[in-house]
Amino acid sequence: MRDDLDLNFFKKSLEERLSAIRSGLEAKRVAGTPVELDQSKVGRLSRMDAMQQQAMAQATTRRNELEQERIQMALKRLESGDYGYCVKCEEEIAEARLRVDPATLVCIDCARAVEKK
Ligand SMILES: [Zn+2]
Repeated sequence: MRDDLDLNFFKKSLEERLSAIRSGLEAKRVAGTPVELDQSKVGRLSRMDAMQQQAMAQATTRRNELEQERIQMALKRLESGDYGYCVKCEEEIAEARLRVDPATLVCIDCARAVEKK
């Protein structure tokens, strides 16, 4: 357990991010429906546009789902008292890094090591 961190602050900001992503996903699901229904009415070019938009929306949805999983993992680690420790080397993650991305699971050194690969 990290005594140096304001764990309530991180819990709150993780929960806020999670609910923002969830309401975003919900809005997209609703907004995405008319595109499919309109396909018979629109021309070939705009249909391709619609398909492209749909593909982009799906990529965003996938990204959001991954982000959601990451946040849920961080929240679990908050509960178990493992929050703020790197999952790879078990060193403490710098508070400044956690403030930028509260869902981060690795320290800066391990993150850099992954980027280099
Ligand atoms: Zn590490």
